[in-house]
Amino acid sequence: MFSNSAFEYAAMGMALVSLDGAWLQVNRTLCEIVGYSESELLATTLQAITHPDHLNADLNCMHQLLSGKIPCYHIETRYSHKFGHLVWILLSVSLVRSTNGLPLYFLAHIQDITNRKQTELALQESEERHRRLVELSPETIAVYSQGKFVYINPAGIRLLGASSLEAIIDKPILEIVHPKYRQTFERQIKQVQAAKRAVELPALKLVQLSGQVIDVEMNASSILYKGKPAVQVVLRDITERLEIERMKDEFISVISHELRTPLTSIRGSLGLLASGLLLAQPEKSQRMLEIAVSNTDRLIRLINEILDLDRISSGTENMEKQACNAADLMQQAVDEMQSMAEKNTITLCFSPLKALLWADRDRIIQVLTNLLSNAIKFSSPGTKVWLTAQKQGQEVVFQVTDQGRGIPADKIESIFERFQQVDASDSRQKGGTGLGLAISRHIVQQHSGRIWVSSIVNQGSSFYFTLPLLQKILR
Ligand code: ADP
Repeated sequence: MFSNSAFEYAAMGMALVSLDGAWLQVNRTLCEIVGYSESELLATTLQAITHPDHLNADLNCMHQLLSGKIPCYHIETRYSHKFGHLVWILLSVSLVRSTNGLPLYFLAHIQDITNRKQTELALQESEERHRRLVELSPETIAVYSQGKFVYINPAGIRLLGASSLEAIIDKPILEIVHPKYRQTFERQIKQVQAAKRAVELPALKLVQLSGQVIDVEMNASSILYKGKPAVQVVLRDITERLEIERMKDEFISVISHELRTPLTSIRGSLGLLASGLLLAQPEKSQRMLEIAVSNTDRLIRLINEILDLDRISSGTENMEKQACNAADLMQQAVDEMQSMAEKNTITLCFSPLKALLWADRDRIIQVLTNLLSNAIKFSSPGTKVWLTAQKQGQEVVFQVTDQGRGIPADKIESIFERFQQVDASDSRQKGGTGLGLAISRHIVQQHSGRIWVSSIVNQGSSFYFTLPLLQKILR
């Protein structure tokens, strides 16, 4: 039928195939591709060597050719090699018709594309592996082009506090960079684009979609995204790390000051006693011992309060809440503080309130005694301190009022922070640690309450805190 040598020696596989799929004529290259001899191949059909997965597509195209809907078709298919393995094939088929238009047979061009397919598959697999890596990465990986986000991974969606990818795609990156850092950021990104390599940028602040500001570290590199110049960034949230560093610094300064001061004093007193210089002066020796004891007490108190604050603020100490009467708590706190008040010639006035609360008894008494002891400590002898409470809506508001030295307006907030005192000499003179109010605030917050103070310098202060009524909890 078709016996010229061009067919026989063509560099690609060629065949004439009957309308029902029998091989009518095959060339050498086709025989090499599938490993069969010419006679073996002619004894079989195209369907017989086509992998079942591709048969339908092939038959479909043949029907369309026969019906004249398409002039030819190209499909990727797989043939079974004589040795059992599969060969990827690019099959191009056209239909040869008689002069009066009747279909005669198919003309097939067959190319072995196994190598290309394997490369493609390897590429797909590696692309899939990388995609998963990026998706699973705990760090934010994002790409932006022409100033707008074009990709961000799930960690990035979480980092920016978005609900979905759509909330970020197309968003200008500068919108999430804190205004103070925008100029520097733009300048650095220009350097990244010029450098054509990954660059580590200095820490900067981002603004989450909720408005919350976070600290991040960033690496950036210029890449191509869908053929356009783009920048790929990797972000790490370092807010927590910076906070830990800040706390570590604070802790070290506390250790060096708060703990070393009493320790130095203990060392001084004991050193003097140990030297024997005071052997003949029992009164002075006694005084040295008293200094050592009181400073030891101070150290113990400080360490206990640091541990207390750590337990409460980290939430490891669970509040043991139960129904309790506000009047009982107030009574117990007043009883505990009575002797201190008498020692300081302060009159403790107290009007109990009957109200059922849902609270940890001991912890609330701790808050009340701390407020009362501060009120006593910072008041002049002969003045009064009041403990009162009243219901307000679904809450009870406790109030501790004194006629003491008061608190300057700029310290009204900060005294609730750790180691914050109005006057640096307060710890020495009044024996406090600067932790009481911080502990109180944590306890109140763990009861869903608030604590605050109003004060006028030289006239006195009123500390307030709220606790929810039991009936509110039961609702
Ligand atoms: P401490 O009393 O152990 O120093 P607190 O955290 O309880 O620690 O109080 C912090 C600081 O707040 C005090 O050192 C003092 O400077 C100030 N303060 C607290 N209560 C009063 C008060 N009633 N009147 C004046 N100053 C107060």
